[in-house]
Amino acid sequence: MEYIIHLTEKCNLNCTYCYENKRNKDISFEDIKKLIDYEISRKQKYSIIIFYGGEPLLQKNMIKNTIDYINSKKCKTDFYYGITTNGTLLDDDFIKYMKKNNFINISYSIDGMKETHDLNRKTIDGNGTFEIVEKNVRKVLKSFDEVVAMSVITRNNLYNLSKNVEYLIDIGFKYINLLFDYSQDWQDEDLNEIKKQYSEIAEIYADKILQECDVEIPLIDDKIKTYIKDEYNCNEDCKFGMKAINIGTDGNFYPCMQFVNNKDFIIGNCKDGININARINLIKNCRKENQICKKCSLKKRCKHLCGCRNFVLTNDINELSPVVCETEKIFIEVSDKMAEKLYKQNSKMFIQKFYNKDYNILKQIASKYDKER
Ligand code: SF4
Ligand code: SF4
Repeated sequence: MEYIIHLTEKCNLNCTYCYENKRNKDISFEDIKKLIDYEISRKQKYSIIIFYGGEPLLQKNMIKNTIDYINSKKCKTDFYYGITTNGTLLDDDFIKYMKKNNFINISYSIDGMKETHDLNRKTIDGNGTFEIVEKNVRKVLKSFDEVVAMSVITRNNLYNLSKNVEYLIDIGFKYINLLFDYSQDWQDEDLNEIKKQYSEIAEIYADKILQECDVEIPLIDDKIKTYIKDEYNCNEDCKFGMKAINIGTDGNFYPCMQFVNNKDFIIGNCKDGININARINLIKNCRKENQICKKCSLKKRCKHLCGCRNFVLTNDINELSPVVCETEKIFIEVSDKMAEKLYKQNSKMFIQKFYNKDYNILKQIASKYDKER
């Protein structure tokens, strides 16, 4: 199980698209200890703890206390760690600390080149944060292989998207997570631009794969997997609290970060653990496919059943937004064309990536332990 602990709701930045409440709230260490005790009692072979916020590095001591507490327990579960950070508070000591302490996943918020990044990722005073973010990310990339660029796509930065992806690959990112801010007021004309930018990204990606460079962009990779691997279904990726649980600063469990602090979506708490019935009910309620999707040939390849995303857009976990349908069709069409090209050119990396090895480190860990079972 992956636990995403929201250490604090506070943040030192004020990004234009931030959905965080930013209340003056931190999780208590008592709740974290209960969570760890609960997880140890489940006797799993491994567990993953992701430190999240607000900005989790405002709570460096809480991170260290959590890891000390886990290390003080003589348990058979192997714990791995990750963090999602805006990077502005990272320093050499903390990078060394992560290196020493089994951090396997660092998700780093960076939207691209200065021109793009500073449009939305700002300090509380309204200044851009690119200089510090870029300086720190170069240090992290030197120390860790698995650093994920988390880039938010908005209407005001879309036109530069493919250039930003190229820039992120050039500075050393191998894994780039492009996060559409679906809550923006997307217009019909944006769809043409999305298709143009996405096609250019697919070209960049194909060139890198042909040069045997190991690059992963889930918006592309996941669509190719749904074509090649019959068992891979985009809609089963998050599983609404089956694979990952978010822990709010109130100590309650939520199936996705979009629902944190929404009492209708509580599926447990640090003291009592997962409320299996609440989780099953939520999953059942979230699987109501509409008539159009039921008949659509792309339904296994499209994220139309993502209850979290549907909720953000329509306030209903089962109500789809048209922008999701249109963008999913674009992602599938462009990825298919690019995959066909790589297949015809007999790209070794392409075959290795999609027919042999799983590149995502969290999935590699899961499959390592699955094999041992
Ligand atoms: S860094 Fe994250 S939490 Fe902080 S303001 Fe930006 S989006 Fe919000
Ligand atoms: S592509 Fe559109 S119609 Fe087809 S499954 Fe996805 S959301 Fe539904």
